[in-house]
Amino acid sequence: MAQTSQQILDKLKISGPLPTPKGVALQVIELTRREEVTNHDLVQLIGVDPALSQRVVKAANALLGHVSRPVVTIHDAVTVLGMRALRQLVLGIALVADYRHGPCANFDYPGFWQHSLLTALCVRRLALRANLMAAEEVFMLGLLGQIGRLVLATAQTEAFSDLLEQHEPEQRLFELEQAQFGFNHAEVSAAMLAEMNFPLLFQALVRDYRVPQTSKTEPGSREWQLLRSLHLAGLLADLSPAPAPERAAAVTAVRRAAAELAIEESELLELAAACMEEAREWSALLGMGSPSLPDLTSLFTAPEVLEEASEPPSFVQSPHDYKMRVLVVEDDRAMRALMAQWLNAAGHRVNVAENGVEALNLAELHRPQVVITDWRMPQMDGIALCRELRRLPAQRNTYLIMITVETIPDKLVEAFEAGTDDYLTKPLTPKLFFARLRAAQRVVQLQEELAFDREQMVRFSNELSIANKRLQQQALTDALTDLPNRRFAMERLEQEWALTQRGERALSCMMLDIDHFKKINDTFGHQLGDEALKQVADALRKTARAQDVVCRYGGEEFLVICPDTGATAAYQAAERMRVSVESLRMLAPDGRHMPLTLSIGVAEKGEGIADMNALINRADDSLYAAKTQGRNRTVLNS
Ligand code: GH3
Ligand code: MG
Ligand code: MG
Ligand code: MG
Repeated sequence: MAQTSQQILDKLKISGPLPTPKGVALQVIELTRREEVTNHDLVQLIGVDPALSQRVVKAANALLGHVSRPVVTIHDAVTVLGMRALRQLVLGIALVADYRHGPCANFDYPGFWQHSLLTALCVRRLALRANLMAAEEVFMLGLLGQIGRLVLATAQTEAFSDLLEQHEPEQRLFELEQAQFGFNHAEVSAAMLAEMNFPLLFQALVRDYRVPQTSKTEPGSREWQLLRSLHLAGLLADLSPAPAPERAAAVTAVRRAAAELAIEESELLELAAACMEEAREWSALLGMGSPSLPDLTSLFTAPEVLEEASEPPSFVQSPHDYKMRVLVVEDDRAMRALMAQWLNAAGHRVNVAENGVEALNLAELHRPQVVITDWRMPQMDGIALCRELRRLPAQRNTYLIMITVETIPDKLVEAFEAGTDDYLTKPLTPKLFFARLRAAQRVVQLQEELAFDREQMVRFSNELSIANKRLQQQALTDALTDLPNRRFAMERLEQEWALTQRGERALSCMMLDIDHFKKINDTFGHQLGDEALKQVADALRKTARAQDVVCRYGGEEFLVICPDTGATAAYQAAERMRVSVESLRMLAPDGRHMPLTLSIGVAEKGEGIADMNALINRADDSLYAAKTQGRNRTVLNS
């Protein structure tokens, strides 16, 4: 069971003394605990120790920077900082001064304070950047955030020294401490801060910040930001003494922690460089000797370490969620890697791009359903990318999410006008990220379903129209000869008749009938009769002029419509047909000759012919005349 702060400290006190400031500093701390204390009392007390006074004044100036007028006296310091912050400052300064060396053999006292100082300076700047909390208080949080280590070195000197012998990483050290003491140094830090009257929030922060994923703080909340800032500051401080093989992993950890806070690499390097610079001043101020600081730029430009080292998020979506093709566009590589990792862990297919130009090329190739894009990027920013994507027909339905640092209404309006569907604000938290992604999923899925339905409908209607055409054609075509049938012939003749009514155009038609076909059937059989019908049809088709319409009228009779054709021309055309059939010279399989000839009646529209039926009748009459005149002949207008 977890132990309370008091239990932890009581246990430790049995084995040895806890680190406490001595002399004036101790009196200052005790004084500020009293209710009726005045600033004047405090000023007087600190004034007794000139070295302490001097450090407090210098530290107050360094902490407050250029925001206020310079602090010259202790009196100024207490006025500007307030009693609580001053007390914390005195405490920190005194502890650094009094615990510069110690008896714990494997505990690197100067290294410990350098690390704490660097953490303090970094977290102070991070807090200033995000406007998180009074920067001077956050500074103290950084400085005393690992005080539990010093406590163990002081109270459990030998046991702790043994644990440190192995240079364990923090996480492993926690486990060893747990086994050895029943609590770890982070819990001791929290207990110590409780003892020193630091607020509850501070106690929780120092307990969790080295392993922030165990904390239950709400992602994105102020407390979460403080925790992550402290975590990042700690990781930056880790960089300095990290031995070479671990350095790459340490840089990756820094990058990732920065990405979670939406701090881009360039800004991070600037911030860290400023902290290193301050570390020199503060080391001198606190009498700590000159610090050994790493060259951050060279560390960060070293070949990139694989990002997989970090754990996947624990909140991934349910396996039943719809998986999508997602394109992540972000110029900061750590931020990019972070989002890609989240999305991959959730089972989506992810592509990444560094800027808008690259994104456009990838979009064409991979057809993403969702594009998540940063706003500010070199070459082509998020707004321009949205506009370009919306211009491409294939990307018109792509769901666009813009990542912004600003939620100023006018800025958001600009993003929506450029075509974005939704936005996310930095720093990104997995919870909100996936909530927004789920909204995207619903839209994308709906669109896919609609597209599928539409496709089905188009296919169905295409099939239907093909079937209709086929049916229509079947209805108007004779199956045996492939010629247009009687129905077609009548419709066509009606149209042609109507056309001649409008203008003074000529129209003729001919009726053709095979001679003695019954006999052919009787002699050669019905099947050869059919064959003969086909051959006659072919001959007619070939001999007909381009404008003539040859139809099978029924049985062994054919009707030919001759638009724009007068009687003479029609007669000549009929004769050509007759001759072509006569010269077919079709033979039966047994070698016998099949005598095929036609009788043709030709009629031209003219006086006495009131409608198309009359025209057909006239052609029929002529056909009859041809038959009676001996067959195999053409008769005109009988
Ligand atoms: P005519 O010279 O007076 O026209 O003599 P015909 O024998 O041709 O005249 P008729 O009208 O008496 O006979 C037509 C024959 O054509 C009757 C029928 O068996 C045959 N016939 C009609 N349609 C088809 C067909 O599709 N295939 C076959 N093989 N014979 C058909
Ligand atoms: Mg950017
Ligand atoms: Mg007949
Ligand atoms: Mg006949």
